[in-house]
Amino acid sequence: MTQTRAAPPGASRGPARVRVRLRGAVQGVGMRPFVHRLATELGLSGFVRNGAGGVVIEAEGDRLQDFLARLDTDHPSLARIDGLQVEFLAPDGGHGFAIAGSTGGAVATRIIADAATCEACLRDLFDPGSRFFRYPFVNCTQCGPRYTITRRLPYDRPQTAMAGFALCADCARDYADPANRRFHAEPIACPACGPRLSRDITAIATALHDGQIVALKGIGGFHLLCDARNERVVAELRRRKAREAKPFAVMVADDGVLDRIATPTKAERTLAGSVARPIVLMDARTGVLAPSVAPRLRRVGAMLAYAPVHHLLFDALPPGTALVATSANPGGEPLVVENGEAATRLGGIADLIVTHDRPIAVRADDSVAQIVAGLPTLLRRARGFVPDPVPLPSDGPCTLALGGHLKATVTLTRGAEAFVSQHVGDLDTAETIRFYRETIDHLTRILGVRPEAVACDLHPDYRSSQMAEAFGRPVIRVQHHAAHIAAVAAEHGVAAPVLGLALDGHGLGDDGGAWGGELMVVDRAAWRRIGGLDTLALPGGDRAAREPWRMGVAALHALGRGAEATARFPAQKLAGPLAARLGAGRVAEATSSLGRLFDAAAALLGVRTVQDYEGQAAMELEALVDAPRVLAGGWTWRDGRLSFLPLLAALAENKADGASLFHGTLIDGLAALAVRGATQTGIRVVCLGGGCVMNRVLAEGLIAALSAQGLTPLLPRAVPANDGGLSLGQAVMARADLVGGNPIVVAGRCP
Ligand code: ZN
Ligand code: ZN
Ligand code: FE
Repeated sequence: MTQTRAAPPGASRGPARVRVRLRGAVQGVGMRPFVHRLATELGLSGFVRNGAGGVVIEAEGDRLQDFLARLDTDHPSLARIDGLQVEFLAPDGGHGFAIAGSTGGAVATRIIADAATCEACLRDLFDPGSRFFRYPFVNCTQCGPRYTITRRLPYDRPQTAMAGFALCADCARDYADPANRRFHAEPIACPACGPRLSRDITAIATALHDGQIVALKGIGGFHLLCDARNERVVAELRRRKAREAKPFAVMVADDGVLDRIATPTKAERTLAGSVARPIVLMDARTGVLAPSVAPRLRRVGAMLAYAPVHHLLFDALPPGTALVATSANPGGEPLVVENGEAATRLGGIADLIVTHDRPIAVRADDSVAQIVAGLPTLLRRARGFVPDPVPLPSDGPCTLALGGHLKATVTLTRGAEAFVSQHVGDLDTAETIRFYRETIDHLTRILGVRPEAVACDLHPDYRSSQMAEAFGRPVIRVQHHAAHIAAVAAEHGVAAPVLGLALDGHGLGDDGGAWGGELMVVDRAAWRRIGGLDTLALPGGDRAAREPWRMGVAALHALGRGAEATARFPAQKLAGPLAARLGAGRVAEATSSLGRLFDAAAALLGVRTVQDYEGQAAMELEALVDAPRVLAGGWTWRDGRLSFLPLLAALAENKADGASLFHGTLIDGLAALAVRGATQTGIRVVCLGGGCVMNRVLAEGLIAALSAQGLTPLLPRAVPANDGGLSLGQAVMARADLVGGNPIVVAGRCP
């Protein structure tokens, strides 16, 4: 927190008056009632109000020191004070302390993230004496929806999705009562005046219990729910959603039930129970959940109930119930949020559609997280985390960064903060692109900024890159892997040059190549590649990413064993012809991607030859690791690049512990690559970025190996390692370019 104070004029004379400005997450978190209670308790006069710049307090009386100290220490738990500025004024001798109306002006404060139902509201929910008894929308200043209902700032009810609900007399009284927990709780609502569910809880619970699929409107969108222990209905959900194997998340009532379906570590349990309530990956207990929940994976994504309606549902279901709770986004399109579209888009999937009449102003999927090396890291960043900003090491011009093409997010910087949007999705459909545009508009509106430049990827085929010119601002194109590394450095507050291991699926290099296993130096806007993985042929371009057998054939070819292709991939009619084409030198494209090396290994080991979802081969391979083991001589230097051909040769023979051998040898080779770079450059900080870093075995192995060599490895924590974090890196590199670094960033018009 930054504190600035002007010297008190005549500090020792009688009661003084101060003006205090609070910046940070200070609106919509019960700050004003807290200030009111505190000031009243200390006998101060004055007022508190929300302004566009944060919260402004004027207070007068004898106990100002106590007041200032306790503002800092006793504030509500959801609040975060980033700046507290005190100015001394002439006393005006007023009486009483008031909460004044909001003022407009330039928007400089922020919305906070949605928060899980608090303990006090849970007690109201199940207390027959409470007027909120069994009310599915109960909330207070310490919990409930925020970001997903806020259209613009300042955060006041008319600016939210609650605008259409007039307060009843009881709610109006609570809202106006400084002693009440719901004092100025903007989403306050009760059965008499608030939103309603279209079906009663008993009907929904009965449908779930009977093995039906229910679409339920929640906080940031619709969920599809079904009994996670009923294989028939989970398989049916897969059939109707046309989703063959991508794992489903599971929701349970509480900690106790979590232990029945999984074996969470202490850190995983704490993360699952945090107010953000993300989906947390944890080891599943065998034989408890239906096999179709997370096929061929060891871990399951589990989350705790986070909205009142979830708690009511679990209360109406048999104890110990676990529900599949997956985003209702048919065909990879964005989450369904509107009641009307639910009927048309979910009608063919759900047996029962349950809506409510509180609009969702902003879509947000459930966030996904895992514990790596003891600390949380995000795999998908949305509900509960957005729009909390990532603090940047320095101030700079406002930049809009458009991210990549898959798992797109956008980032907008304001001052020394970067606002990374929620996960939007793959920019392949008109619906997703509409959501993407909405996200840019909403973020720009709530932040009240106008970007000075627009950053995007080098790749001309990304939808995001193609949109960049349309903003009418200078366009800065940032190399994919440099952006991955810059994102990691930025979130860790590192402004100095860093080494980066970009371990990724695919990204366009500035030489036009398909990159994805690179060692680089990134220094503000400048970057250079100083090493990386040796290339393998990339047969079929994008298709190779969906069909790992193609990389299997490319590996066989590199080993001089192309003749084995037909026998090894008997189900692939094209394996033989492809080997022949490779042999004839007719596949021009090559890749240094680590993601494709994972595919090659998975194919050679017979783990997976065709993927149903991105990353499936690598995830299934990771699930087979017992303990990473290094194959001696498994990697070599080839023309200065790191080659794993000896490892691939061993995998072509080995089916037993191939996954452990693959991971262990990768870690060993990649650590040697980083150490070589550190020796060469003298840089000791190594940022690990790119989608492969989501592989926990690989990430933990690299952290251990690099630390053992005296280096400082940094992992993406606040934003995803994959392309979901790309926009953050683009934003900081473009910003550095604007203020004049040494621009190796390619700037100019779309090729
Ligand atoms: Zn509450
Ligand atoms: Zn009411
Ligand atoms: Fe990437």
